[in-house]
Amino acid sequence: MAVGGCFCGKVRVEYSGQPLASALCHCLDCRKLTGSPYSYNFLVKSAELHVSGSPKEVAKTSDSGNAIKNYFCPDCGTPLFGRKIKSNGDSDETTVVRAGIFDDSRILHERTPVVEIYTEQRLKWVSPIEGADQFTGMLPLP
Ligand SMILES: [Zn+2]
Ligand SMILES: [Zn+2]
Repeated sequence: MAVGGCFCGKVRVEYSGQPLASALCHCLDCRKLTGSPYSYNFLVKSAELHVSGSPKEVAKTSDSGNAIKNYFCPDCGTPLFGRKIKSNGDSDETTVVRAGIFDDSRILHERTPVVEIYTEQRLKWVSPIEGADQFTGMLPLP
């Protein structure tokens, strides 16, 4: 069980399973929404992610053309997670959780990124992670 939450503590998350993947994303949307050069994310099953509080939902079409909703704490603005919205309006079965929201740093130490995406936008002074698969664009998701 991994627990985490936003900067001010009003939104809390719990994740009961094991992440399907861990990825660094260098895309420009991630840069904006995290305020950082890149994002570190765990791909999890949406059904296994439990959220308390009322995250603010922000919809946007991503570079890859997908309709994405990103969720932030409405008070402190911490980026929490995002997921694809299917053409029928349903949320996707997988959710991209911002890895830095988990309380226990061991989770981040132990789970190294297995993949890096949108590496074309990676800043020149950031080195690729050794052993992580590199994709210039989006990961071909199952
Ligand atoms: Zn907050
Ligand atoms: Zn991204």
